[in-house]
Amino acid sequence: MGYFINLSWVRFIPNGKRMILFGTKTRHTKVKDEVILSNSCPKCQGNLELYDVKEWFTLYFIPIFPFNKVDSCYKCDKCKQAYMKEIKSMFVGSQKN
Ligand SMILES: [Zn+2]
Repeated sequence: MGYFINLSWVRFIPNGKRMILFGTKTRHTKVKDEVILSNSCPKCQGNLELYDVKEWFTLYFIPIFPFNKVDSCYKCDKCKQAYMKEIKSMFVGSQKN
């Protein structure tokens, strides 16, 4: 899969004999046409790609729609390690020195 899923919370609602299962998940979705920080992964020197971190409403663990953009992050295309978006300014800062 091209994204991480972290279970945030899940609720059960009794509905007769059935249980309605809904909740939220945090998904990382890749941002299109975004500049990639090439060979910038601190761990493996892989390419870093920009991802949006969004909260998704889920029904029976299936993401239905996003309702809140939480943050952005970079993720390595090799080792899949995620980094805070502030890592870009770290690189820019180091290049000035
Ligand atoms: Zn990496």
